[in-house]
Amino acid sequence: MLQLSDVHIYYGHVHALKGITMTVDDGKIITLLGGNGAGKSTTLKMISRLIHPKKGSYEMDGKSMLKDRPSNVVKKGIIHCPENRRVFPLLTVEENLMVGAYSRKDKNIKDDLQKVFSYFPRLRERVKQKAGTLSGGEQQMLAIGRAIMGKPKILLLDEPSLGIAPILVKEIFGIIKQINQEGTSVLLVEQNANMALAISDYAYVLENGHIALEGHSKDLRNNDEVRRLYLGG
Ligand code: ATP
Repeated sequence: MLQLSDVHIYYGHVHALKGITMTVDDGKIITLLGGNGAGKSTTLKMISRLIHPKKGSYEMDGKSMLKDRPSNVVKKGIIHCPENRRVFPLLTVEENLMVGAYSRKDKNIKDDLQKVFSYFPRLRERVKQKAGTLSGGEQQMLAIGRAIMGKPKILLLDEPSLGIAPILVKEIFGIIKQINQEGTSVLLVEQNANMALAISDYAYVLENGHIALEGHSKDLRNNDEVRRLYLGG
């Protein structure tokens, strides 16, 4: 379980997170909604320890994470799949996936590679292809596949639907649900509120660096303000 309490982040004078308190319970999908600049990516970067808070606490299973380096966070099973599907364009699909397993020493890496191919058969078909030649949707699948190769306990996904054809978005969200059902918790940052609320258990709405609203996803789908701002009325 991840717990953030009263987290404040500054970029110079910009007060980007203004006291965020949130929980990612084991086995759940949690959505973080919000418009541009609300602080969603900052929250994920903070959890990955790429940014240090000025104030507040961050714990995993009751232990502070605030002294951990980003590489330690990965070793503890918190794997960040960043915005804009950052794959290595000159490496092949297989090489990109193997990068995701770099910190592992166990013997199940090959099995997990097959698992990624079973989630995303398109990646198997393109295994020797350079990642830079894949479509946007395929690159997103590769970025998620690479994160799975890190054996996540908690998967941090930053806008997996951004710039992707609706049919692939549906496929990707189906796989996110499946990954979760097989035991991985997910913290999902999204602007596609419809899809995100449909697959998640609980959601937080970030506005200008603070949590404006939170609740069970099914309740937020029926909330007038959420419908007006994020669900097209
Ligand atoms: P988007 O969906 O547009 O990525 P977001 O909700 O993820 O938005 P963040 O990227 O977390 O928002 O940004 C939160 C605030 O912090 C914004 O006001 C942004 O301008 C500011 N910010 C983010 N990164 C930096 C940075 N490196 N330097 C200065 N300010 C930053």
